[in-house]
Order: sequence, then structure tokens, then C-alpha cells
Amino acid sequence: MGAYNRAMSRGRSEAAGREPVGRVFQRVLGDGLPVAARAEGSTIWDAEGRAYLDAAGGAIVVNVGHGRQSVVEAMKRQARAFTYVHGTIFTSEALEAYARAVGPRLPLDEPAIYPVSGGSEAIESCLKMVRAYHLARREPDRTVVIARWGSYHGNSLGALDLSGREFLRRPYEPWLGRFRHISAAYPYRAGEAAARALGDAEALAAELESAIAEAGQGRVAAFVAEPIVGAALGAVAPPDGYWPAVAEICRRHGALLVADEVMTGFGRTGRWFGLDHWGVRADVAACAKGVTGGYFPFGLAVASGAVYDTIVEGGSFVHGFTYSHSPVGAAAAAEVLRILESERLVEASAARGERLRALVEDRLGGHPNVGQIRGRGLLVGVELVADRTTRAPFPRSARLVEKVQARARERGLLIYYGTGNADGTNGETVLLGPPFVVTDEELTAIADQLAAAIGEAVTEIA
Ligand code: PLP
Repeated sequence: MGAYNRAMSRGRSEAAGREPVGRVFQRVLGDGLPVAARAEGSTIWDAEGRAYLDAAGGAIVVNVGHGRQSVVEAMKRQARAFTYVHGTIFTSEALEAYARAVGPRLPLDEPAIYPVSGGSEAIESCLKMVRAYHLARREPDRTVVIARWGSYHGNSLGALDLSGREFLRRPYEPWLGRFRHISAAYPYRAGEAAARALGDAEALAAELESAIAEAGQGRVAAFVAEPIVGAALGAVAPPDGYWPAVAEICRRHGALLVADEVMTGFGRTGRWFGLDHWGVRADVAACAKGVTGGYFPFGLAVASGAVYDTIVEGGSFVHGFTYSHSPVGAAAAAEVLRILESERLVEASAARGERLRALVEDRLGGHPNVGQIRGRGLLVGVELVADRTTRAPFPRSARLVEKVQARARERGLLIYYGTGNADGTNGETVLLGPPFVVTDEELTAIADQLAAAIGEAVTEIA
């Protein structure tokens, strides 16, 4: 019996009570998962020795690649000294050194980092920073937070409420509704007139300005968005004038600009941060994923110097997590940062990203069910459509993208995907985001295998 089947049958017999009970509540219900055994570079091997090309770095996480022993050693060194001290009692040299090293890279002026355990916690912490800032400025009525449809900021309830992914929100709708949402900068799926508006930076900025006016003078606390939308839309960058216009509007109205760089940060889009494509600075930012590249659950809520100083002057930041400010996480992050810099991996993400896009364009650019291939750096989205002319999506009930994922996996290729981008339910995109160390040969294999998997999946549902 293979490792895959053993895991399945163990789950079943334990469920039936024949063995001592104790099992994993998996991310995928009712599905057997292969057992991961080892990983190196862009490859993961399962317990049966099968190799998988990790074309999505898990969930667009493993920026520096798998199997980096120097990151493991850095964590070991810190863990040998001490693994945990409470963040209200001690700081650590690991944390302080990391803050000094990462500061100049972050897309905020004079940044102060608040380390947490991941992206959702980072977003929640950013929201609390926003609140603390306005309270410190004696503007308690600035409570309105504006986000966008077609966005993802996490699955904890505050972050989910901020997110504009309807199918994720739906089961929890009775607990949501605190935040406002405006349009995503996503012209591809709108009708012709709307497409012009949604692809036009001025029109999009005007929508933000109207939302601020509608909320009322002095009521808006922050605008939160991903610089380039990740899984929610599939690597969608806004038109060029968008971010500078949005930043200007926020400043003019006293609202903080919060950048969700959880997926786009640390080189993923070919620049250090998504906002760097437009030279825009945030007031507050969330980072995770690439911060440690998957070596430790670690994220950052970051405040600009001005926001941090105001909060400090206000004298209070009512917040905190048991596992925030981890010295082991900081040690991992510092080594990941050193690797990104010394191996020039951000530049590699830009160059290899272009190559990947060209390859995917070559293999799939003319495919009748591929509507658009897009992205920046090593974040590449492939929009699947039933009809290229009308851009109509396949009905979600056909579960095309899951079939693409399954066929790809059979071929030893791991991809990431998003759904609901067309209307909240329908619409499917494949998302590619391999480690920055991906080789030319692997890039070719990604494009070839993805094209074959899409072909097979479309045939299957035809
Ligand atoms: N923000 C963005 C843009 C993300 O892509 C994600 C995760 O995919 C999150 C926030 C939430 O991060 P986490 O899953 O680490 O909580």
C-alpha cells in the first residue's frame, strides 16, 4: 500500500474507531493527500519518491526555494540560545538586527515592524495600527475603512471582512459587514463602457474619492488594497496612474494608505515590493509569505515613521499575540533577506518572470479557453474562459480549474488557482509563482505541463 493510500485508510479506520482516535482536520475535506517527504529548490518529493515541480511555491510563498540549509542553521542558532521570550518583557538582537536590515527595503519611510505569525495577523494588526493612529490624533470618528472587491486579505474575520472574495465571505456573511468596498482595477471582465472606466486610473481614483465623500468629512480611516492583486483576480496590475492617484487622494483626505504586500512583497513581482513599480510609499503595510519564504510562520505589520511616532506619542497600542515578535522567525527572515540580496533574486524574479510569461504565451496564447496571460515578475496569471470573444467564464459547477490542477498534479506540476473573479462565483484563473531559483528547464516544463493539463481538463468537461 502506498503512502497516499496508507494516509487515506488510516484516516478512515480511525474515523471508524478501530484505532486510537486522533487525526488531521485537513485543508481539503474528504480528499486523500500525498505525504510530503523532502523538498529542494523548486521540487517537492512525496513519501513514495514522486517528484512535483512546485510552480506556485505552495501558495506563492517559497521565494528563495526549498531546502535552504543556511535558513535552517540560522533558526537553529537562535533556537539554541532561546526560542521564546514574551514580547512585552524582552526584545532580542535577532529582531532588532532584522528591523535594521529590512527597513531600507520596505515601501514605507522610516518603517517600524511589528512581527506576527502570518498574513491575516499582519492585516489585523495593520487595522489596529490605523485605529491607534487616529485615536492618538484625537480623531475617533475616523472609523470607515475602504477596501476593494476582487481582493484577498486573509481568513481571520477582520481580514475576511476586508476581502472582496464573495465565495469566501458567503458562509460567514452574518458576521461581516464592517468595511466598504469599491471596484477592483480589473477591466478585463467588465462590459465595454465599464471596461474603459475600470481600466482608467482617473475613473478608479474618482470612485475612491466619491466613497470618501459619501462616508463624510473626517470619517475615513484608511484605504486598503493589494498593489497587484494575487489569488483573488490572478496577478492583476492596475493602470499606471492608479497608485500615485490613490496615494494622493488618501493624503489629501487624512486617510492612511495600507498596502497588502503579503503576496507581492519580497521580490515576487520583480521589484522588492508591489508599490515599488509606481514609486509609491505606504503609511502602513502587511507582509508575510516571502518574508521567511515558508521557513517559519512569520509576517510583518509595518508602520511608517510618522504613523509609529504618532501612536507612540498617543501612548497606547492595545494589541498583541503570544507568538508575535518571534526571535526564531526574525532569524529565518534575516537569512532569507540575505539570500535575496546576495543572490540578486529579486532581479532574477523579474528576468525569469518575463521568460515564464513568454513561454506560457507561446504555449497557451492562442488557446481557445485562455482569455489573458498577465502578471509581473514571477507572479503570472492565466485567465480561463469558455469563450475568448465574449470572455464568458465556464460555469463554476464544471470545476474546470480544479480539473486543471488535478491533471497538472498527475503530470508532477503543482499550481495555485483562484475562482470567483468574474462575478463572485464564476471565473477561474491559474496562478503561477515558482521559487526565484527556478531554472530555465523548469520554466519550460511549467509551460509545457500547464498547457497539457489545460488541454486535458477542457476535453474532460467538453
Ligand atoms: N493578503 C494577501 C494578499 C494574501 O495573498 C494572503 C494569503 O494568501 C493573505 C493576506 C493572508 O495571509 P495568511 O494566509 O498568511 O493569513
